[in-house]
Amino acid sequence: MTHMLRCPVCGKVFNDRGELTCPDGHPGLLRAIYSEKQLILRDEPGLFRYAGWLPVQQIPETMSGPVTFRSDGFAAEAGLSNLWIGFSGYAPERNAHIPTCSFKELEAWPTLERLKETGCGTLVIASAGNTGRAFAEAAQGMEIPIILVVPTRSLYRIWTTRPAENVTLIAVDGDYSDAIAIADRICELPGFTPEGGARNVARRDGMGTVFLDAAVTTGRIPDHYVQAVGSGTGAIAAWEAALRLIGDGRYGGALPRLHLAQNLPFIPLVSAWQAQRREIIPAIDMPHAEEAIRDVHADVLTNRRPPYAVTGGLYDALSDCGGRMYGITNHDADRAGALFEETEGIDLDPAAAVACAALLAALERGEIEEDDCTLLNITGGGYRAVQEKYPVLPVEIIQPQEMPSCIAELHHV
Ligand SMILES: *Cc1c(COP(=O)(O)O)cnc(C)c1O
Ligand SMILES: [Zn+2]
Repeated sequence: MTHMLRCPVCGKVFNDRGELTCPDGHPGLLRAIYSEKQLILRDEPGLFRYAGWLPVQQIPETMSGPVTFRSDGFAAEAGLSNLWIGFSGYAPERNAHIPTCSFKELEAWPTLERLKETGCGTLVIASAGNTGRAFAEAAQGMEIPIILVVPTRSLYRIWTTRPAENVTLIAVDGDYSDAIAIADRICELPGFTPEGGARNVARRDGMGTVFLDAAVTTGRIPDHYVQAVGSGTGAIAAWEAALRLIGDGRYGGALPRLHLAQNLPFIPLVSAWQAQRREIIPAIDMPHAEEAIRDVHADVLTNRRPPYAVTGGLYDALSDCGGRMYGITNHDADRAGALFEETEGIDLDPAAAVACAALLAALERGEIEEDDCTLLNITGGGYRAVQEKYPVLPVEIIQPQEMPSCIAELHHV
């Protein structure tokens, strides 16, 4: 094995058989421990360039991966001299080839590869958008069957650039929580397995490749890391990547400061962190959640159960890095996103626009200074370019009569 898993609660280290939690049942995010202590780059076009620090033995073929480039235009507008963009999306002129246009694809490929290697059954994913599209594309690329459960009103977001023959797409009345409920019930059936969200080391280390790519490109760990967060998984991944890079020894010895943003009025992580609380208290941190979620443009950021308090989760990441959190209005996000598009030529996912506004807010508050080395994680974009280049094929939903009977029964209860 090229890696082991470690429980952050009891410290036990064990072989990876696809676990999402400690065999002794401790709550806490397992962490992958890699035998390569110094990062060795693989000769691969996409994210598997960083396979040494991904929990897989083999490498599927894909061009999907993060890219890092120095910002000129947006940096000048912001007044920064050393701003780097970590981009996950589609912009072939920048060598960015993620056809589903978000960093969720960085999670999907290693998650499916790890699942294949550990033989854990058919993956079941509940999603209202970017995650579902990313897993559909990767499942097709790897020819691995998956089950996707999606609210009917989000179906338009589930498309791929090649016919998705390996995807069983189930439409559910209701919202994302209803999709999760159905997915959970399918996972109780034999042969099906949940993807585990932040608990899955393959998802986190896949997202961590954005940070690795930035460090390799610039030669150092940045002073600041800026991202829009829903679950915070991407930020936990950046923290873990930074810890590994410090262990490597060639990229510096200090953790980056995390500057994380959510979209007002739904900002549970901002609210809990600013109160210096480890627990999210729904009545305080996300009052009138349903209405608040409806008012948010970047709805991928509206996670109601983020891995915040759990050991090894977002609270620990923010504490270790000295985190700052920002609540961003739709108006400020739209303006900052438009400025980015104007100056860098890439159209953004609404969540990435929130990150752009957070960077501007951090500068205004004096949290980031002009010459600091800053990594802005542009988590999604390039939708326009991908549609010019590829046929964008909606994934077809499966009708109840075509479902395996065990699932059809669940679906109707
Ligand atoms: C999911 C997503 C995010 C938020 O990521 P988390 O890891 O859930 O915090 C940000 N931007 C885009 C484009 C996303 O799809
Ligand atoms: Zn344990």
